[in-house]
Amino acid sequence: MISEFKERIEKRHERSRELKKDGKKIVACFYGLVPKELIHAAGIIPIQLIEERNPQYEEKSELLPYLCGMSKNLTGQIYGKVFDYVDGVMVGTVCDTNRHVFDIWAHRKLFPHLFLVRAPSTASDAAVIYYTNELKRLAGELEKISGKKVTEDSLRESIALYNENRDLFGQFYDLRPKTDISAEDAVYIFSSGLVTPVEEHNDMMQRFLSTLATTSQANNNIKLMLCAVNLNMAIDVIRMSEKYGASVVTDDLPHNARYGSNKIDMIGDPFEALARGYLRKVPAPGIYSFEERATDIRDRMAKAKAKGMIYLIQLYCDAYAIEYAILKERFDKWNLTHLRLEAEDTPSSIEQLNVRLQSFVESLL
Ligand code: SF4
Repeated sequence: MISEFKERIEKRHERSRELKKDGKKIVACFYGLVPKELIHAAGIIPIQLIEERNPQYEEKSELLPYLCGMSKNLTGQIYGKVFDYVDGVMVGTVCDTNRHVFDIWAHRKLFPHLFLVRAPSTASDAAVIYYTNELKRLAGELEKISGKKVTEDSLRESIALYNENRDLFGQFYDLRPKTDISAEDAVYIFSSGLVTPVEEHNDMMQRFLSTLATTSQANNNIKLMLCAVNLNMAIDVIRMSEKYGASVVTDDLPHNARYGSNKIDMIGDPFEALARGYLRKVPAPGIYSFEERATDIRDRMAKAKAKGMIYLIQLYCDAYAIEYAILKERFDKWNLTHLRLEAEDTPSSIEQLNVRLQSFVESLL
């Protein structure tokens, strides 16, 4: 079953091209603040733009060297026509960088349709009203691509499907420390959800959970939690930790921060429910409550009995670097043992983390 998840992520472009051939419309999302439920309700398949390790893409992007690798990599992939099957792109503003690469993509007319989602950073009544109207406006734009109207009922159905997916992820994360699922496999299970139609991923998760056995075999490795944005880097750090006798037993991969977040409360008007479900509810840096973010990390560590936490930042990502600086005050107050690592998504940059990671693991023995 794990191979099925892995294949979904490895063959994501081939699979998307097949969907396209079958007449499906596809909108790519630049991260977790994009309300995928809305895209789905318009009869379009949302897929996430995911980094792919290849230094050529960063060069191809021609973006300034001190911009984050994520933006450079995605832009390079777009210039390299990797996402030739995409009908449009929706960018949810997380940071200045992803906000402004949108302008470059729009200026260069790289996609037939480009949408910018600017969610308010508060959840006041005025913000909810504004964002509800913004979602309705976006629904109208999406309808032009698919020809399918976003009705209250279709939006309710889409929210229910994504809630089910979050619920299944929640079940998996609860069970995971009691199973022998490896940390790397957990990344595939998670990341396949970013690029697979939600109905199919729900089905995969249900089948997977129904066969997931708990194990009584004790693993004496040092247990760690990993917080990371970049999936390739996360896998490298997982492998490196294992080399030094540690196991990543839980993680927080806010790449698609909507997953693993609370479910959307379906009360009343579904557009308003969606607005309320995203405003200050998605753990994006600087937008979400720092207190809740820190508490969530602490609770996940406690649940998985993790002894230490690694907070991995991609070089030049100010958003997560600033978030870390604020979270650190809480971590220190709680004596939460952790290690901040920063690197580029290249084998040589990751390699340089070896010594720090090894001494961190040894300090936990
Ligand atoms: S959050 Fe960080 S990694 Fe993501 S686009 Fe912004 S600067 Fe880049």
